[in-house]
Amino acid sequence: MDINQDNVMEKIVALSKRRGFVFPGSEIYGGLANSYEYGPAGAELKRNIQEEWWRVFIRERSDMVGLDSSIILHPKVWEASGHVSGFSDAMVECKKCHTRTRADHLIENDMEAKGESMSVEGKKEAELDAIIAEHKIVCPVCGAFNWTPVRKFNLLFETHVGIVPEAQSKVYLRGETAQGIFVAFKNIIDSTRVRLPFGVGQMGKSFRNEITKGNFIFRTLEFEQAEIEYFFDPEATDWKELFEGWKTAMHGFATKNLGIEASHLRWREHGDEERSFYSKRTEDLEYLFPFGFKELWGLAYRTDYDLNQHAKFSGVDLSYTDPATGRKFMPHVIEPAVGINRLMAMVMLEAYREEGDRTYLKLPPRLAPYKAAIFPLLANKPQLVELARKVHDDLQKHFPVAWDDRGNIGKRYYAQDEIGTPFCITVDFDTLGETDGKSNPDHKGTVTVRDRDTGTQERIAIENLASFLHGKIYR
Ligand code: ATP
Repeated sequence: MDINQDNVMEKIVALSKRRGFVFPGSEIYGGLANSYEYGPAGAELKRNIQEEWWRVFIRERSDMVGLDSSIILHPKVWEASGHVSGFSDAMVECKKCHTRTRADHLIENDMEAKGESMSVEGKKEAELDAIIAEHKIVCPVCGAFNWTPVRKFNLLFETHVGIVPEAQSKVYLRGETAQGIFVAFKNIIDSTRVRLPFGVGQMGKSFRNEITKGNFIFRTLEFEQAEIEYFFDPEATDWKELFEGWKTAMHGFATKNLGIEASHLRWREHGDEERSFYSKRTEDLEYLFPFGFKELWGLAYRTDYDLNQHAKFSGVDLSYTDPATGRKFMPHVIEPAVGINRLMAMVMLEAYREEGDRTYLKLPPRLAPYKAAIFPLLANKPQLVELARKVHDDLQKHFPVAWDDRGNIGKRYYAQDEIGTPFCITVDFDTLGETDGKSNPDHKGTVTVRDRDTGTQERIAIENLASFLHGKIYR
């Protein structure tokens, strides 16, 4: 992506709808703010990013295990974690047009527009009121300067368990996946052979009652979170070294696995006001979105706070016994936490290319929704269609592939380029080896394979196609 390109976000939003990546949520009912649906291409891309994360951080590491805990946990979990009392954002409402917005976003966006910068995370309601008044920040929708006082609202979604109203009990949809890991900690150490230091990773839906609108899938009501709690003995492991190791791993994943240019990433350390009281260090890996550098992936050293809290609230001993020395202690944790949807928005923005009249997504082949598209040169020649179908069906056993027989070849290339399909395969008359004098007999049984990024074509024998593509995609 050319980061300075105009309207790149609008272009990605339009392309997403046009090509089946992301649709506005509940669109036929007029839409639902901050919710989206992932279409056929988007579902594949999102899944590929998830699988890449799981492969790199869980499957290919011997110090990691996976977990899949519940979305609805015992309500005490969220009391213990501090979410019921403290998981809140500060909000203001415009008294004239009733627009509600997060006070920190209102201030930061206003500052940014004036070419200044100010981080207001961790500030109290009265301090935010004072900043809004001092800088005379107006409503971005109607221009009025007539705000309600700043007040906190909780981000947890509430619901109820039980069919008999009197017996209903309040529960929450999880606001993060991480708490499920602490809750399952004892079961994991009792049921597996893990020894410190080790990590537990899980990925799944989290829910937050976000009020700030816009910025596409960057911030949504429900999102796919991928979190790791890396447990260690603070006496045996130097947390600073571990922290640096995780920074390298996260950055490496973004650049090597997701194809992000290093200059589009930066680290930002949380100051004392912003950092949770129990955290010794928190840093965010930020990506240069079209709306500025914004948090992509958080990394926090959370000490033994969460395990202690859950031990206290549940009454269950969650300490760890060192098998070598018999020493009992509470492990500490470092937590890398990322949203897959944010990763996906970044991957699409980064891959977006306009060259002449060509638009394409230069997605890393592993992430591309379809690895190849198969075309019969002409849709009205049964022999071509039949053979192309066979090539398609055979390749489909190896990779997700697309089929297209509409319009001319140029239009089909255009459509596949916008989806980011790395290879387009055409079955033509040479493939059939027709003896009409026009076909090249050397090309019988071969197809053209066109490369998305270079536009070059080469002929490959049908029987070698799967291994050829495999070599290019999973190298
Ligand atoms: P932000 O400051 O952007 O609201 P956060 O600091 O509250 O994020 P964390 O609680 O650290 O976020 O969550 C970890 C990761 O989950 C974030 O880095 C982000 O990638 C993702 N995430 C958080 N909230 C949302 C959301 N509403 N929509 C999509 N992804 C989210």
